[in-house]
Amino acid sequence: MQSSLIGKIEKAKRYALETDRITFSELSVKFRGENSDYLINYKDGKWHCSCSFFASWGQCSHTMALEKILSNMLPKEALVTQFDATS
Ligand SMILES: [Zn+2]
Repeated sequence: MQSSLIGKIEKAKRYALETDRITFSELSVKFRGENSDYLINYKDGKWHCSCSFFASWGQCSHTMALEKILSNMLPKEALVTQFDATS
């Protein structure tokens, strides 16, 4: 393999551990819930989920789970849930 590519692979391995270098500006995922699949997206500073809970509340367990999973890779405005509110 070319040495220049080997260097890039080494750098990528280091970057992959430094997740705070990455901030999602938008995303779209399929989420397998317990009863069915949902489509979730984050765009223009707003979450959206196809589940019925989200339609009423503007957030749901699916968007909350993504906040947890991606925490340091989401812009501040995407982090809307106070996770310690229930403890
Ligand atoms: Zn949902």
